[in-house]
Amino acid sequence: MSFTALGLSPQILRALDESGYKEPTPIQNEVVPLVLSHRDVMARAQTGSGKSASFVLPILQLWSQNVGEGKSKIKALVLTPTRELTLQVAQTFESMGAFLPQKPKVVSIIGGESIGDQLFAIQKGCDVVVATSGRLIDVLNKKQMNLAHLQFFVLDEADKMLDLGFAEELELILKEIPSKRQNLLFSATYPPKMQMIASRITQNPIQVTIEADVPTVGTIHQRVIQVNHANRGPLLRHLLEYEKWEQVLVFMANKRATDNIAAKFKKYGFLAESFHGDLVQEDRNYTLDAFKAKKIRILFATDIAARGLDVDDITCVINFDLPRSPADYIHRIGRTGRAGKSGLAVSFIDHEDFDHFKLIEKRSHIKLVREQIEGFELNGNTPVKVKGPEPVKGKGKSKKDKLREQAAQAKS
Ligand code: AMP
Repeated sequence: MSFTALGLSPQILRALDESGYKEPTPIQNEVVPLVLSHRDVMARAQTGSGKSASFVLPILQLWSQNVGEGKSKIKALVLTPTRELTLQVAQTFESMGAFLPQKPKVVSIIGGESIGDQLFAIQKGCDVVVATSGRLIDVLNKKQMNLAHLQFFVLDEADKMLDLGFAEELELILKEIPSKRQNLLFSATYPPKMQMIASRITQNPIQVTIEADVPTVGTIHQRVIQVNHANRGPLLRHLLEYEKWEQVLVFMANKRATDNIAAKFKKYGFLAESFHGDLVQEDRNYTLDAFKAKKIRILFATDIAARGLDVDDITCVINFDLPRSPADYIHRIGRTGRAGKSGLAVSFIDHEDFDHFKLIEKRSHIKLVREQIEGFELNGNTPVKVKGPEPVKGKGKSKKDKLREQAAQAKS
């Protein structure tokens, strides 16, 4: 289907054209008409599928048909799990609404930036609020935000919010918004907790699942390289030189490792930076912009970058450290091969990662050939797990008993 056939207005079609969107992605084909016909939607959508535009476009269309006179009132509220995704969604509203007769006023409510400025922007009047839930609650507590006119309530990447103890915050938000509204829920997975939240929010939703947008299929070439942990840095340098990858996102297990390796690679002369949650928002924005502008070639990041980060043209994602869960694996590799482009994902594994990677393969329905790179071959043996007798609960010595025994021994 084409964007025109979806029934979008000429001004929105112009914005799509200017953004270089030629035709709708599968999720857009499904979701746009449903939203335009005022239905609640529950979509199983992966990041990279074009899901943001699938709700932004029809919301803007319905909003623009019904703007009303006078000061702007908040008609749409989008919650996202991260600051980066919030800014990206806000940006999508702005770019897609750029040619509407009345441009939407969009405000992002995120931590790490001045709450005063955000309150001021709300007071001036706005149409769309995109927020992370924590800061939104802070703003709501100040009683300076009127959500009584809300028509659209969107949760984007909702399963990621569950991790952050979101249910209580959601209840507080639901108290502030009208019960009659249109609800759109986007999530990569629907575990039981998510189902409960979905039934709390949506009314008789249409469920949409797009199989083709699972990023492990088709567009992303996945490789796994066996290498000793200590050799991963030198191997990465070797690959960067020989494979000539342009923009590389390297996932690390923790913030300190991210800073350390970025500093090392800078010393070697690479355009490298680190990206993690301890950086102030200004630095995070600056680093991301530099990466997008290709002033940084290698970004060493924690999982904070796995979701929501929208940088086109990432040539390669490297799992320097494996992600904790198969779901995180999908999110990480989904940073490459965006919007139908081809991409590459490479995972480094040592003996101790074998089992974990097998599990990732099983859950992602993939089976990859183990590679070794000449000069960096994996040494040593797979550690053999020695199975001792299982500890019997209640039968072992307590800490107190052990201390008593030690004291007795010392006396004798
Ligand atoms: P999302 O899944 O919303 O994070 O979008 C992934 C990327 O695809 C973003 O960079 C969008 O700008 C881009 N995108 C979304 N829809 C389209 C489309 N119909 N054609 C081309 N690119 C798109």
